[in-house]
Amino acid sequence: MSKKEIKILHLYPKELNIYGDRGNILTLVKRLQWRGYHTEVISAGVGDKVDIAGADIIFGGGGQDRGQIAVGQDLQRHSKALHKASKNGVPILTICGTYQLFGRGFTTLDGDEIKGISIFKARTIGSTQRMIGNVIVESEFGRLIGFENHSGRTLLERDQEPLGRVIQGFGNDGRTGFEGSKTLNTYGTYLHGPVLPKNPRFADHLILEALKNKYGVDTLEPLNDGLEEVAASDASKRPQ
Ligand code: GLN
Repeated sequence: MSKKEIKILHLYPKELNIYGDRGNILTLVKRLQWRGYHTEVISAGVGDKVDIAGADIIFGGGGQDRGQIAVGQDLQRHSKALHKASKNGVPILTICGTYQLFGRGFTTLDGDEIKGISIFKARTIGSTQRMIGNVIVESEFGRLIGFENHSGRTLLERDQEPLGRVIQGFGNDGRTGFEGSKTLNTYGTYLHGPVLPKNPRFADHLILEALKNKYGVDTLEPLNDGLEEVAASDASKRPQ
């Protein structure tokens, strides 16, 4: 029997990839391979023909406002297919710049209006205060740790679920205490760092959901995350 394979679609790796966001892809790949699965990573750039429906996991990273303008326009082409994937429960992880574009839109500090695809009921507005530092978030995956650097303040509409609550740091807007967004298996977060190697439970959730959807797998073989746990506990003691 041929090896089971998971296809990971990486949206706009050239335009949006800061603070090690690509490490999220490496983490998904490694954690799948260590469990005996084959992986294929497909990069989708501006103007590329992209098979969204064929993706088992979808990922998009963060970036500068400039990069988001080009991506924002191109992303509209995929809006319908991404909504469908999200509704079907495909695990989708969006970080910072992509997270903002999965909401209703981002108004930059320079006054550019970047339209989003409204998977998240949230809107982002650039502020003069950059929100920078180490973040700790209480979530369904336990405490998540990461690093944030954004000018955009994201406000969730009343019926938009956040990913978690900020224990340390700014999160979505520095005021409401919310961090990120969650709609079915589509997640948005400001956590760079990258987020998945630092938070293996979150990584495994995305992996398990992808394997469930494709192969009906309902449990994952545990991995030795001893080092990750020590690193997370150490990082959570660091000042902001
Ligand atoms: N350019 C956006 C902002 O500053 C996103 C930043 C990021 O992806 N880190 O809010």
